[in-house]
This record gives sequence, C-alpha cells and structure tokens, in this order.
Amino acid sequence: MAQQFEDKFQRKFYYLRLSVTDVCNFKCQYCLPDGYKPSGKSNSFLTLPEIQRVVGAFANCGTSKVRITGGEPSLRKDFAEIVHAVAQTNGITKVAMTTNGYRMKKQIHSWKDAGLTHINVSVDSLDPRMFHQITGENKYFEVMSGIDRAFEVGFEQVKVNVVLLKDLNSRALPQFLCWIKDRPIQLRFIELMQTGEMDPLFQNQHVSGVSIRNQLMADGWLLKQRQSHDGPAQVYYHPDYLGEVGLIMPYERDFCVSCNRLRVSAKGKLHLCLFGEHGIELRDLLHQDSQQQALIDRIQGQLQTKAVSHFLHDGNPGMTPHLASIGG
Ligand code: SAM
Ligand code: SF4
Repeated sequence: MAQQFEDKFQRKFYYLRLSVTDVCNFKCQYCLPDGYKPSGKSNSFLTLPEIQRVVGAFANCGTSKVRITGGEPSLRKDFAEIVHAVAQTNGITKVAMTTNGYRMKKQIHSWKDAGLTHINVSVDSLDPRMFHQITGENKYFEVMSGIDRAFEVGFEQVKVNVVLLKDLNSRALPQFLCWIKDRPIQLRFIELMQTGEMDPLFQNQHVSGVSIRNQLMADGWLLKQRQSHDGPAQVYYHPDYLGEVGLIMPYERDFCVSCNRLRVSAKGKLHLCLFGEHGIELRDLLHQDSQQQALIDRIQGQLQTKAVSHFLHDGNPGMTPHLASIGG
C-alpha cells in the first residue's frame, strides 16, 4: 500500500464518496426544486475506466469504503458495472450507494449480485402525499416496495435518510419509530444543510436534531460506540426495537473532528469538504493506469490544505450549489 491519505490534523481517510452523475429524476425541495438542469458546459461524467483508476488510487492509500452517489446514481445505464468494478478493487471491502429508491425494486437484485454491500435510501416522509410534496414525485409506494425487496434479496440492514424539515416532517418521529420497531432499518435524520442555491428554504425549514435526540434519550434509547470507519452519525439503539436511529448534525460543535471521507464529483473533481470551495481537477490524471502515482501525489498534496472545519457557523456554505452536484 502507498502512503495512507492523511491531512495535517492527523485525520485518516478511509471513505470515498464518489458521485457518478449529476442527473436526477426527483425534485427534492432542498436539493433540485426545479429538477435537474444540465449546466452549459460538457456533461460527460466519469467513464468506467476513469472510475476504476480513481478508486484504485484511493484503495492504494487506505480507503476501504466507497459510497456511490449522485444525482441519482441508478440512472447510469452502466450502474451495475460500476458497482462491480468498485467491488473488484483490491482493498475495497464496503461498496455502498445512496439512492432515491426509484429503481430499487427492479434492480436491487442485480446491484447485489454486482457486489453492493450497503444501501441508503432517502425517504423524507411516511405519508405518501407529504413524500410527493417534498420530492416532487409520487413514488412513495415504489420506493417502499424497493426497501422490502432489498431485505428479500439479502440485505441485513437498510439505512433510510430523512432530511429534517421544520414544517414537513420534524414531528413525525413517533411514526418513524413505529415503522422501525420490527424492521432492521437504521433511520438517519439529517439536519438540513445550507447550500448556495437555497437561502429562503434554509431560513424557514432548518431545525436542529437536538429535540429528536432529547426525545430518544427520554424514551430509553442509548448511544452506540463509534468505530473508526463510521460516518458522522450519532447512532442510538433500543432493546425493544430492531431498527436504530442515527442523527447527522453538521452544525454541532466538533462535527468535523472525526471526518474520514473525501469526495470525488461526477466530473472528476476532488472535494476536500462538502462545504468547500471549487473542486480540484483530477481528470487529467485519469487517462492511463500509469498516472496513478501522480494522481496519488496530487490528492496527498491537496489534503494538506484541508481546513480543520467547515464554515457553516459563519453562514458560509461554500461553493456547492446543491448536494446533487457532489453527492451529499
Ligand atoms: N439521489 C440520491 C438520494 O437522494 O438519496 C443520492 C444523492 S443525494 C444528494 C444524497 C443525500 O443528500 C440524500 O439523502 C439527500 O436527502 C441529502 N440531501 C440533499 N440535499 C440536502 C441538504 N440541503 N441538506 C441535507 N441533506 C441533503
Ligand atoms: Fe435527486 Fe437526491 Fe437531490 Fe432528491 S436529494 S433531488 S433524489 S439528488
């Protein structure tokens, strides 16, 4: 193994979030409220050989987990091949995806066969009408049957992302808890994050996860110990529930201390932080296998510039226009 990716604050990077497309077929209010609009520039997303090279370089420097995301990653026609290529990379032991669930019911079997080991599905409401209102798509029942199908094909746990929205779902905790009582689902309540294109929505709908944490603790939920490869969620369990509840609260102090992930966008830019500045070009070093050392050197060099924390507390969400552009 080449030198492990590490920054100057001794944070090690085990986890790559790889976006494979910016395109999405949903219109989530907090992400792409007007739907996906191609940018004027070229829309060519990383090809399969480019994906293999970038994942190979990360794996060579200690990354063991890759999350494939987007936009909606399952809209890529070669999605199963991407999963297969990532899963076949030496050193990669976890291949996860984040999806809106739209294609899950039909395709999860082939994704699992290709080597997918973990799946996160976004479900912001258990009320079909509210789901429609938030996502712009009347696909609640398809997504829910996709989750059932994931268990049928052998996933032991499904993670479900819920973005907390003050007026739309922040009082739905009892309903969500009832849903996971007998299902091995890990809910992940994510605080709404401010991005470049969403000022009024953030001001009106942002709500802290603290009240959910307080309710959980009052009801006897217990905090799980965090492992070094885990994401930033604080995860709670309860002896009476098969499911678990995670809280992702990027506005909490020390959120960035345990940062262990880097991001590569669908157009091949390295992002040191979700809320950072413009990405760093990697694509010129993805043409040939022989460029791997130069690619590693560039990533390692840029890592030394990674800031200790995001600047969200100063009201500075960075340059990310919406999370579909770098995969959340
Ligand atoms: N399309 C897929 C999906 O929605 O699951 C994957 C990409 S999406 C950008 C990844 C995750 O980011 C989703 O769970 C989504 O709900 C979340 N997300 C998007 N915009 C967000 C925001 N402004 N604040 C918090 N979470 C957000
Ligand atoms: Fe699409 Fe995911 Fe963004 Fe919703 S959150 S618009 S599903 S990329």
